[in-house]
Amino acid sequence: PVDRSPEIQEARLKLPVLAEEQVIMEAVRENPGVVICGETGSGKTTQVPQFLYEAGYASDGQIIGITEPRRVAAVSMSHRVAKEMNLPPQVVSYQIRYEGNVTSDTKIKFMTDGVLLKEIQKDFLLKRYRVIIIDEAHERSVYTDILIGLLSRIVPLRNKKGMPMKLLIMSATLRVEDFTDNQRLFRTPPPVIKVDSRQFPVTIHFNKRTPMEDYTGEAFHKTCKIHRMLPPGGILVFLTGQAEVHNLCRRLRNAFPFRKNNDADSSEAMRKFKKAKQKKKTVSLPRIDLDNYSALPVDEGDEDREAGIGDEEDGGSDLDIGDDVADSEEKADPSIPLYVLPLYSLLAPEQQAKVFRPPPPGTRLCVVATNVAETSLTIPGIKYVVDCGRVKKRFYDRVTGVSSFKVTWTSQASANQRAGRAGRTEPGHCYRLYSSAVFGDFSLFSEAEITRRPVEDLVLQMKDLNIDKVVNFPFPTPPSTEALVAAEQLLVSLGALEEVKQIQQASLSCPITPLGRAMASFPVTPRYAKMLALGQQQDCLPYVIAVVAAMTVREIFEDLDRPARSEEESSKLTQRRARMTQMRRLWAGQGAALQLGDLMVMLGAVGACEFAGCTPKFCEDNGLRYKAMVEIRKLRGQLTNAVNAVCPAVGVFVDPKMTPPTEHQVVCLRQIVLAGLGDHLARRVQAEDLLDPKWKNGYKTPLMDDPVFIHPNSALFKRLPEFVVYQEVMETTKMYMRGVSAVEAEWVP
Ligand code: ADP
Ligand code: MG
Repeated sequence: PVDRSPEIQEARLKLPVLAEEQVIMEAVRENPGVVICGETGSGKTTQVPQFLYEAGYASDGQIIGITEPRRVAAVSMSHRVAKEMNLPPQVVSYQIRYEGNVTSDTKIKFMTDGVLLKEIQKDFLLKRYRVIIIDEAHERSVYTDILIGLLSRIVPLRNKKGMPMKLLIMSATLRVEDFTDNQRLFRTPPPVIKVDSRQFPVTIHFNKRTPMEDYTGEAFHKTCKIHRMLPPGGILVFLTGQAEVHNLCRRLRNAFPFRKNNDADSSEAMRKFKKAKQKKKTVSLPRIDLDNYSALPVDEGDEDREAGIGDEEDGGSDLDIGDDVADSEEKADPSIPLYVLPLYSLLAPEQQAKVFRPPPPGTRLCVVATNVAETSLTIPGIKYVVDCGRVKKRFYDRVTGVSSFKVTWTSQASANQRAGRAGRTEPGHCYRLYSSAVFGDFSLFSEAEITRRPVEDLVLQMKDLNIDKVVNFPFPTPPSTEALVAAEQLLVSLGALEEVKQIQQASLSCPITPLGRAMASFPVTPRYAKMLALGQQQDCLPYVIAVVAAMTVREIFEDLDRPARSEEESSKLTQRRARMTQMRRLWAGQGAALQLGDLMVMLGAVGACEFAGCTPKFCEDNGLRYKAMVEIRKLRGQLTNAVNAVCPAVGVFVDPKMTPPTEHQVVCLRQIVLAGLGDHLARRVQAEDLLDPKWKNGYKTPLMDDPVFIHPNSALFKRLPEFVVYQEVMETTKMYMRGVSAVEAEWVP
């Protein structure tokens, strides 16, 4: 029996999913798989695990597992459910890539989808679990799709072996045909239970004009206007990325300053927080199981998740406050304070938790968010939504592998999902910063992520699960054959798969090699995994691990090239830029080390930062992103464990006082890097080819017609070696190679 507090009990009863408890539990009893659809906020994530728990699905030593595409959701939902059920975190726990609080007493485990994928590698039958819930399936994240494909096989297998297991797929939209009407996935389509949502009408207001550039400015003006003119109710603003979110937060705070006159309040909170922390220490240290990580780094910081369908209510426009592109900057008005909070994936959990608490008395809540607020998290009390209509996504060119982050229009389904956030507690309003004509041109839905990214990592993971013919895998939406062939070829060239000589080209059934198995156990992309596998030579492993960790964690340097927002900031930026240039030069090393280029800079940065204890101050002073450095530190630990697990004889450990590599080791490192990045080779354009000025200082790659370049921030910018390998090509103002290191002409294959 669960002992819930009266307040919790009351709040639960208001959730639409409660009305369906019996229907859901009956369907679960009678079917191996069930699909549950319900609007965001209807109570799926917080309540369904509780239904299962109360029905005894977590007795007999087995547990209930719930996967989330985002770490934020895994952590915050485990806390919420623990609180609702009045159970400690040892029982309702979470596991994300680097951390978790799972114990032997855990009954309900929230985790990222990557974590479960990794567990399948260790135990294909997932014997620990009685039920797996795949949450946010409508987002169609790659791991979610793969997990559903795998579980479609695991569940019948378990039933056949007399160890029954249930699969629940939960979606915020009704668009679930890819799962239900897919004969290859489920021969008998799973029943779909629709949770009626108590969605209040949301009036949509389109802009007459569509600002093409400064939508953050437009969001600012719209938010100010709502705050000045419209009745109480929280505001939720959707922007595309972290920098925009902070920028708008700052402007709004300046316009409607909220003075914490009752400082007691915040110090009280601080005191409680500290106390909670102390308590946690004495009661139970979170158990960090470094073996239990996601298979691959999840690109959560990209904010590139998408959503599906939602309902839209068209209605009167009595609250139409008009377009106001040309308004001047607001004057500070402390008489109507606005309580402004940012929300995005990489925000620290204590910061994120703030959005669930009521705003201080006398203020209005305003949350400025990326699309994490679209479906994963429900923020209470939102009456107004301001939607910029855009989303930031990573794009890959399937042929060349060039990637770029682009802000593009979102889909209609996604925009409707955003609008729906305004109608959870009472009728609401959604202000779209674009015209209805522009909306009409949006695509209806967003594509499944698996169709728009390279798949070599997935193919390797699948081969490691002995799925030799990956084309036959029951993908909810299969990647293109082209992408599968490219992946298989790359893996063959890395030695992870054995080439099968066949008359038909592209057999797509190459078996995995022992090297491939070792590579699959490293939680990084196959190119980097290859480097780790070779790292034993000449005691290079600690360096390879550090470099791979740094290459895997994106953007280790702060972006100091950004335009300054004030005179004062400008001079500060200039100073910091100078310091960073100086440090980069220092970290690039001397003599032979110089040839390692940007990778040596990364190695130097990681070494220096660890030496200094990885403090925020050191990072700040030297232009390093503190969060990235902390992540690198964790990844180094994780990779070190993974290497030791594959090959205990090497006994590698993380040395916080790592000395720079010797000249000999540098040569060795460069060859290891070449072995991993061999297909990312570029050659400087020869003088005789220089007919077209666009090729000046350009490099030629095998797959691209256009030149690629070394970035001015690169350690090799002034050297322009004849041959280089690069980590990736990123299109920004130009096609720039990132993570460049030089290759000796005689090594070139
Ligand atoms: P769904 O998964 O269907 O989108 P959830 O189960 O996440 O719905 O949310 C149900 C309700 O629980 C929402 O009204 C939400 O506001 C509330 N809720 C979720 N997390 C928290 C939290 N940490 N604090 C307070 N309320 C929360
Ligand atoms: Mg949910």
